[in-house]
Amino acid sequence: MPPQVSIAISRPLLLGTLASVIAPASLAQTGPLTTAERSAFTATSRHADVMAFIAELQRLSTKVRVELMATSPEGRAIPLLVIGDPAPASPAALRGDDRAVVYLQANIHGGEVEGKEAAQMLARDLLLGGTPTYLDRLVILIAPNFNPDGNERISAANRTNQVGPGGGVGERYNGQNLDLNRDGMKLETPEVRGLVRVLNRWDPAFFLDSHTHNGSYHQEPVTWVWGLNPNGDAGILSFMEDVMLPEVERRMRETYGTLTIPHGDFVDPADPARGWVPLGPEPRYLSNYVGLRNRLSVLNEQYPYVDFETRVRGAYSLFRTFLDYLYEHRDEVVRLVRDADRRALARGTAATDAFVLATEARPIATPLTIRGYEMEITELGNGRRRARPTERTRTYGDVPYLARWTPAKSVRYPRGYLIAAPDPAVLDNLLAHGITVEHLVEPATVPVEGFTVTELTGARRSNQGHYTTTVTGAYGTVARDFPAGTLLVRTAQVLGPLAAALLEPESDDGLVTWNFFDRYLAAQWGNQPQPYPVYRLLEMPYLVTETVGDGSGR
Ligand SMILES: [Zn+2]
Repeated sequence: MPPQVSIAISRPLLLGTLASVIAPASLAQTGPLTTAERSAFTATSRHADVMAFIAELQRLSTKVRVELMATSPEGRAIPLLVIGDPAPASPAALRGDDRAVVYLQANIHGGEVEGKEAAQMLARDLLLGGTPTYLDRLVILIAPNFNPDGNERISAANRTNQVGPGGGVGERYNGQNLDLNRDGMKLETPEVRGLVRVLNRWDPAFFLDSHTHNGSYHQEPVTWVWGLNPNGDAGILSFMEDVMLPEVERRMRETYGTLTIPHGDFVDPADPARGWVPLGPEPRYLSNYVGLRNRLSVLNEQYPYVDFETRVRGAYSLFRTFLDYLYEHRDEVVRLVRDADRRALARGTAATDAFVLATEARPIATPLTIRGYEMEITELGNGRRRARPTERTRTYGDVPYLARWTPAKSVRYPRGYLIAAPDPAVLDNLLAHGITVEHLVEPATVPVEGFTVTELTGARRSNQGHYTTTVTGAYGTVARDFPAGTLLVRTAQVLGPLAAALLEPESDDGLVTWNFFDRYLAAQWGNQPQPYPVYRLLEMPYLVTETVGDGSGR
């Protein structure tokens, strides 16, 4: 992840400062060694190394199956390890089986490689090592190399601020030059489409996406944060904040000898006590996307200025910590996501139920203690300052953690959306997410809310190849004729909040944002924007419909 605040980054001062607090996880190593282990943590694995490592695990253990999650734009296989005892032949094989499904993903940004090494180590130790087995209660899905195209561009010139591996790392982007961690909503990459197929088919209760950060200076080598989108289930959001956050911190410290803090950056590096802020809440980020789908979701970011081995072992310890917790609390976690599904299905009937369009950052209940450094401030003129860490450590207490993205603007949460422009790209996107879409079999004249666009703005800078669109306007009630074939998306489905995030015109990360509706909104002649071709149902009228596609949704 890029830093949320810009700070001047000099070469790290932190090498070795953690030796006293990091006890390497003791590993019972049987089975193959990863590239990182074989090279004494001076190199990271190539695509071919990962494939050979997985083949060796398959040769040595019956508890792993491999699925093809996707093929990258440059033609590389993206394998998904399905680890279980027994390894289920398909999601259908888990019916009547009370094992919970857990998903871990690494190397989404091809320069952020320690998760890739830790994921391979974890797979090996689950299958062959003397580690405690989780497999009587969990099925563990692992995608160790989610961005093989980025990975293969290994060069010592990439991520030069990061401490090792000396042999270099890959690049951030995939073979389409896109950032996979911005593709959660538009689904333009085969990698993220492959992930969403896995989410729809296997429905993991827990998701983890492993990265390396680039930002504020502190001593803790491992950071993480939960899915932050406020339209996700309130019960899951508070569980992650109130239960998981302190529990993971404690277990990492006590069981694995590793310090953690939540992911973030100082609001003002010159004044660290002012606050610590995570990434934004937009569901283009995959951890927020999965949170919006009402599942437990984790963004993991290693600290880049400690050595590579410490980062790999830190990521490994975090994966183990979550597995330990999920193993012990499987029933509670499964109940939590089932309750979240029930709550999602019941939404939209109360007039007070709101969908959040815009947020502002507020602190969570418990402030943080961050082991940082005394900062050296240099005035650069023009009011600009550069903040650099000194070698003197300093602990900052009572730091507000601005991770509660609270509503700044909301609209009423509707019962459904009628899409009067049955655009194939819109339909394809909704179905790819797993959203159930119907179409009208008979024409209908129904009262709806229509959105009149008063202002249509294109971004001045390209983002992921898009000049993203922003609209402002207002809803008004109209009675309108909808012909047969009009698409209907009900919010009374498990993915209802995701559907609203995609279809609300003023959503900060919806299909309007990503230009799906530009051709309908901007008239060829004249300056006045056209009405948004998606209408809201606040009440569900009599409609005769048929489900589009196989309606698998989930
Ligand atoms: Zn990243």
